[in-house]
Amino acid sequence: MWIDTHCHLDAAEFDADRATVIADAVAQGVAGLVVPAVECATFDAARAAAGAIPGGAYALGIHPLYTPRARDEDIATLRRAVERAMGDPRFVGIGEIGLDFFVSTLDPERQQFFYVEQLKIARDFDLPVILHVRRSQDALLKQLRIFTPRGGIAHAFNGSRQQADLFVERGFCLGFGGQMTFDRALQIRRLAVDLPLSALVLETDAPDIAPAWRYKQRNSPVELPRIAQVLAELRGVSSDTLSQATCANAWRVLPRLPGAMAMAPGDGPVASISLISDEPAR
Ligand SMILES: [Zn+2]
Repeated sequence: MWIDTHCHLDAAEFDADRATVIADAVAQGVAGLVVPAVECATFDAARAAAGAIPGGAYALGIHPLYTPRARDEDIATLRRAVERAMGDPRFVGIGEIGLDFFVSTLDPERQQFFYVEQLKIARDFDLPVILHVRRSQDALLKQLRIFTPRGGIAHAFNGSRQQADLFVERGFCLGFGGQMTFDRALQIRRLAVDLPLSALVLETDAPDIAPAWRYKQRNSPVELPRIAQVLAELRGVSSDTLSQATCANAWRVLPRLPGAMAMAPGDGPVASISLISDEPAR
C-alpha cells in the first residue's frame, strides 16, 4: 500500500474525471491520500475531495502563492475552521503553508506574516504542518525554531543535506515527488538515497510536478506507485520495504492520518458542515 502525502485532488484539473482518478489510484494500491488546502475558499473543496476517497485526509492552510489575495482576517477564518475540523477524523494538519522565494512577485514580508501566524495555530492545536519549501529552507527553519510545531512534512524538498538534517531533527519527513524521477535531478536523487529511510514520505503534488514519463502533462495520484518504484530502485530496497517504511513515516509525522485512513468514503461526523459557511461573502 502507498500513501500520497501531498495531492491537490480538489484542483479544477480533476473536475472532469476525479472519480476515475480515485478509482484508478485505489486500484494501484494508493490506500491513503492527503489533500492540502491552498486558501480559505478551498477548505470545503479539500474536505470534500478527501471525503470521496477511501483513506482520504485533508489539511487546512494558506499557501504562500495565495498570499497576495489573502486577507489578514483569513487567519481568524483558518483558526475557526481548524477548531471545527478537530472533530473530523479526516483532518490531519495545517497546510499547505510556507515560503516561496523563487516567485519574485511575492512579497516576502506578507508571506512571513501568513507563515508565522499559521505556525502559531499549528502549535496551539498541537498539529503537524505541511510545508511548501522553495528557496526558503533557512527562513522556514528559523521560524520553526521559534514557534516549534510538532513537525510534519517538508514537501517537494530541494535543499542541502545539512538543511534536510535540520528539518528531520525538528520532527519532519521530506517528500520529493515526481522531481526525483528525472535523471538530471542529481541533488534530490542524492538526498533520496542518502537520507535515512525513516526521513522519507511519498507524494505526487498532483496535478503539478509530473514525473519524467508524464513530462508537461497532468500529474495524478495514479503515478505514485511508479514514483515509489523509482525510489526503491535508487535505494536498492524492495517495494515492500519502501511501502512499509514510508507508510509508517507518514503515520508518525501525521498522527491523525491512521484515523483518517480507517474511514470509508462518505463517513465523517462533520461531513455536512461547511468549514467556512459562517463567513461573510467576499
Ligand atoms: Zn502543493
